[in-house]
Amino acid sequence: MKISDLGEFGLISRIRKLSRGKTSSTLIGIGDDAAVLALSASHVMLVTTDILLEDVHFDLSYTDYYSLGWKAAAVNLSDIAAMGGSPRFCLTALGIPRRTSAEQVFEFYRGFNSLLHSQTASLVGGDTCSSGHGLFISVTAIGEAKPDVVITRAGARPGDRIFVTGTLGDSAAGLEILQMRNAPDRDIRGRAACGTRIEKSEIRNPKSEIERLIEKHLRPVPRVSEGRKLARSGCASAMIDISDGLSSDLLHISEQSRVGAELFADRIPLSSALQRMSTILSKMPVRYALEGGEDYELLFTVPEAKLKKLHSLKLPVTEIGAVTTGRTVKLVDAGGKKNLLQAKGYDHFRNSVVKKKKC
Ligand code: ADP
Ligand code: MG
Repeated sequence: MKISDLGEFGLISRIRKLSRGKTSSTLIGIGDDAAVLALSASHVMLVTTDILLEDVHFDLSYTDYYSLGWKAAAVNLSDIAAMGGSPRFCLTALGIPRRTSAEQVFEFYRGFNSLLHSQTASLVGGDTCSSGHGLFISVTAIGEAKPDVVITRAGARPGDRIFVTGTLGDSAAGLEILQMRNAPDRDIRGRAACGTRIEKSEIRNPKSEIERLIEKHLRPVPRVSEGRKLARSGCASAMIDISDGLSSDLLHISEQSRVGAELFADRIPLSSALQRMSTILSKMPVRYALEGGEDYELLFTVPEAKLKKLHSLKLPVTEIGAVTTGRTVKLVDAGGKKNLLQAKGYDHFRNSVVKKKKC
């Protein structure tokens, strides 16, 4: 069997089956944003790890090393945030090509530590070797939480409302702009859908709105304090961070909670920068939100009885749908028409062309 037949998530599911046999301290193993391990009666440890690979997750022709370090830390801390925990420690393992200078590695760690210190976490170890191919980065993050406040992907119940923090799709649009700025002129014209011509000057225009989309892509800020508040207040029944795209990540909640969902397309929060750039890029802005990924916002469900409490927290959140019985996830358009939501987020093995996904 080819790995592409299974897809990324099918492969992980097989690995999970092959690795059964949790110890009594493993409260949650493979399958959520982070593992939850019992330390004592009053504390659990949250552990997560992510790989960033040159030319798969990032492209050094438009990513500076500081941003790369920042993002490597942010994507891991976002997984701790999605469980409602507090990040504490990180380990980094690097495979460094010989062409890399020491200053570039220092810049990576300046960015990495800057994000870590803003969240009162610190780097405590790792591993370093040379790489015959591209730059390889693996980060492990360790966090902590009280056992009764950890939020998994599995707690959503029919009737719960669906919320997201911030706005969605900005990161994917930022990536597209970076790729277009880098492309030869004729490619830019070729990329524009519906025959619209996009001039390179328009994409190069250093407007602050455009820069904001790019910044959201290169230096996302994980929603650590929001995740912690949602967990401690007891408002969220299930939670995940949006790394693969709203469509895929909502499907992860649906699968693990064994529920369906209705998502209202016209309620998905979109920034004005994304809406403006979408007209230039000739793509519906909601598509960036559904399929783009890498927003590192939190997607969570809230029982009706907890809605008042949620609003009292005054977090930057938007209600975008509701959890239903059954197992289907539907996208409801502005006219009330319902369509089955497909997982159109990124899958490392199903997407046939190696697409530069991140940074
Ligand atoms: P995220 O997008 O939140 O980082 P992933 O989709 O990468 O999550 O992973 C989903 C779950 O599968 C996590 O619990 C992760 O620890 C686990 N996982 C992913 N790859 C592997 C692997 N090769 N071996 C064991 N567990 C894995
Ligand atoms: Mg995650």
